[in-house]
Amino acid sequence: MLTVFNIQRYSIHDGNGVRTNIFFKGCPLRCSWCNNPESLDPAPSIMFDERICHKFGECRRIGNGGIILENDKLVINRDLILDTTVYNNICPSKALIVSGQEKTVLQILQEIEKDIPFYNMSGGGVTLTGGEPLSQGAELIDLIIQLKKRGIHVSAETSLHLPWETIENYVNLIDLFLVDLKHLDNDKFTEYTGGNATLVMENFKKLDETGRKFIVRVPVIPGFNFSSAELFAIIDFAAGLKHVSEINFIPFHALAKEKYLMLGKDYTFGNHRCIEKSELKPFTEYAERKGLISKILN
Ligand code: SF4
Repeated sequence: MLTVFNIQRYSIHDGNGVRTNIFFKGCPLRCSWCNNPESLDPAPSIMFDERICHKFGECRRIGNGGIILENDKLVINRDLILDTTVYNNICPSKALIVSGQEKTVLQILQEIEKDIPFYNMSGGGVTLTGGEPLSQGAELIDLIIQLKKRGIHVSAETSLHLPWETIENYVNLIDLFLVDLKHLDNDKFTEYTGGNATLVMENFKKLDETGRKFIVRVPVIPGFNFSSAELFAIIDFAAGLKHVSEINFIPFHALAKEKYLMLGKDYTFGNHRCIEKSELKPFTEYAERKGLISKILN
């Protein structure tokens, strides 16, 4: 089974043509600014929006005391909830939802196949994202093989924060890698993501050596990497690789604030200011002077 928290059809902002984005759960990193906090846990997650809760109480009648009423408020004890599936579709007002569903390869394929005419018309395809899609294992490989048999273009958004032996399995299957390059400094990378920058940079070089073209994506995050020194260093690293087809800058926004609240998680970046596209112009110009095609994404 593959654990998916969203299948987003008709996307036109994530690569060529009309795309279907498949969002997988589970990620080896914990980026402090992460826009998809519901993706981090590999298992389905309970999300609760107190503002639209009518306290009908159906959710309190099932489970193991994981959801209780206290001072006229619902309290979610996530540690006590061992099986989130009992809460699937339990809430009539959708204040309580389960993010993430286990799906077979066939079920995902059936969703994707509905959009084949759109891929054919637009040169689109499927984008695997998350979370970290490449940490899904053998069933993801099976899904990609099925997509290739149907002639569907497959992109994957990845942090490359995985053993190279895992990434290597995908090199000849994925048509286009969209790879995050967050920071080059190990201490800062570890402080803000819990991961290891050296592993990522080594994997960039190994991916480059395979000769496959890939896109470098730079999330631009205030207080983390939004300085000339840090971004110029990131651009220099990308420009030193031979097979980068373009570099994309993704300015920070704090739109995920509500999702953190619904997951009962703290969001340390919730009050950071958004970065305007115009603030990134010096970096796109620098990247272009270094010979890289450069874009600012939404
Ligand atoms: S790699 Fe992506 S999904 Fe994983 S924690 Fe970082 S921003 Fe979130």
